[in-house]
Amino acid sequence: TERLKAGLSKTRDKLGKSLAGLFGGGQIDEDLYEELETVLLTADMGVPATTGLLKDVRERVTLKGLKDASELKGALKESLHELIAPLEAPLSVEGRKPFVIMMAGVNGAGKTTSIGKLAKYYQSQGKSVLLAAGDTFRAAAREQLIAWGERNNVTVIAQQGGDAAAVCFDAIQAAQARGIDIVLADTAGRLPTQLHLMEEIKKVKRVIQKAIPDAPHEIMLVLDANIGQNAINQVKAFDDALGLTGLVLTKLDGTAKGGVIAAIAKERPVPLRFVGVGESIDDLRPFDARGYVDALFD
Ligand code: GDP
Repeated sequence: TERLKAGLSKTRDKLGKSLAGLFGGGQIDEDLYEELETVLLTADMGVPATTGLLKDVRERVTLKGLKDASELKGALKESLHELIAPLEAPLSVEGRKPFVIMMAGVNGAGKTTSIGKLAKYYQSQGKSVLLAAGDTFRAAAREQLIAWGERNNVTVIAQQGGDAAAVCFDAIQAAQARGIDIVLADTAGRLPTQLHLMEEIKKVKRVIQKAIPDAPHEIMLVLDANIGQNAINQVKAFDDALGLTGLVLTKLDGTAKGGVIAAIAKERPVPLRFVGVGESIDDLRPFDARGYVDALFD
């Protein structure tokens, strides 16, 4: 929790300071609720989550007969926890071999970095990992992945130029032949003009299904927490196109917009598998709703 606290320091500073003023004392009244609303919106929770949280907090206040502003913090923590707890659904990679994880996300979101971190994470759990360099439109992404694989003794299946779907298909076949546990398949984050990104990624998904009918077993969108409310639009767009099964929220450490998790929970509750709270390998960790709420408020 200390690490998480440090990671969330920017959101904490912004949210915590404003909330400290609110919870300072005095009566719970309409002015206080109005101020609370402003604070939650400022932390990028968005209108639907903020409205829902306020309603829930009011109910708790009435139910428990709370009078003093200092008692509001506990009520808010409980409401927020209840809202975001369904996002906490750790990914199980058991039961399939290889377990195929398809990674999506726009360039700069932290997709390549997260793939590296995930590969390490699973290796540390004794799993063998193979990477598919499916971002064939961006040479740098491929090279970054190959270099990373060499440093960490992880096989990377890549192809100069070429077709992302073909790379992923080859990677799955290689994984099957070698008895690999987990395939992490990268996909394009941006395309040169005419082609539509979603069509390209849907094609990758279809071809993965050709290799293994029930794969991809996980379709994970990597999101940069700094984009705040825009994250919702990205989740909706990728979910509509691909049927997302998980999210990775990166760069929570660099942003005051950590409240976006509440917005996701309210507006498109796709399981938040991992959060990134820094650039080092162990700064990608399974999402822990209670830890997140405690880190924000305590
Ligand atoms: P991609 O274009 O989506 O593959 O993005 P990259 O993986 O290349 O990441 C873009 C930048 O974000 C890099 O400088 C990463 O080091 C940085 N980054 C990724 N995840 C995190 C994170 O959780 N915290 C911080 N502070 N930086 C991150």
